[in-house]
Amino acid sequence: MIFILLAFALSLYAQMRVSSAFRKYSQLPASSGLSGAQVAQRILALNAIHDVEVVSQPGSLVDHYDPSAKRLVLSEENYHGQSVAALGIAAHECGHAIQHARLYAPLQWRMAAVGITTLAGNMIPIAALGGMFLAPKLVLPILAVAFGIVTLFQLITLPVEFDATARAKAILAETGAVGPGEEYRGMEKVLDAAALTYVAAFLSALASFLHYLLPLLVGGRSDEE
Ligand SMILES: [Zn+2]
Repeated sequence: MIFILLAFALSLYAQMRVSSAFRKYSQLPASSGLSGAQVAQRILALNAIHDVEVVSQPGSLVDHYDPSAKRLVLSEENYHGQSVAALGIAAHECGHAIQHARLYAPLQWRMAAVGITTLAGNMIPIAALGGMFLAPKLVLPILAVAFGIVTLFQLITLPVEFDATARAKAILAETGAVGPGEEYRGMEKVLDAAALTYVAAFLSALASFLHYLLPLLVGGRSDEE
C-alpha cells in the first residue's frame, strides 16, 4: 500500500516536472530557427525514411508516433514552434519512427503487446467493480493477471522511450538544430522529465500488480499449512 502511494506521488511529481520544464523551455527559441515540423522532416530524410507523414493535431502534448499509420503527430504548438522544447519532442518522435524503420526489437515487442494490454486495461475496472458486489476471491486473480500484463507493457515501454530520447539528443546536437549550452540543456530537461513519467507509470503498474498478487501468494501458503 505504501509502495502504491509512493508510485502515485512519483507520478504526480513527474507530471509536474514535465509541465514545468515544457512551460519554461517552450519559451526558449532554438538559434537554428527551425520549427518542430522542419526538424522532424529533416531527421526523417537524413535517415532515408520517406513514407512517414508529419502532421499537426490540436491539443497540448498530444505528440506521438503512430507505427500502424506511419504518422508522426505533433501538437500544433510543437509543429509550428521553434523552441528547444518543440524541437526536442519532434526529434524524440522521430526516434520512434527510426526504431520502426530499423525494426528495433523492443518497439516490435511493444507493438505486439498493444492488443492484449488494451484488453487487460479494459478488464481492470470491470473486474474491480465486479469484485465489490461478487466474490472478491474470484476477482483477485483476474486483477493480478491484468495488472501483470500492464506492468510488462510498461516495462517494455522503458527501453523504447529511453532509446528514442537518446537518439533525439544525439541527432539534435549533430545537426546543430539545437545549439550547445543552454539550448541543449533545456531540450535535455524536457525529454528527461518526459522519460521520468514512463518510469513512474511502470512503478505504479508494478505496485498495483504486487498489491493483488501478494494476497494470492500469502493466501495460497496459508491454505497449505
Ligand atoms: Zn516516446
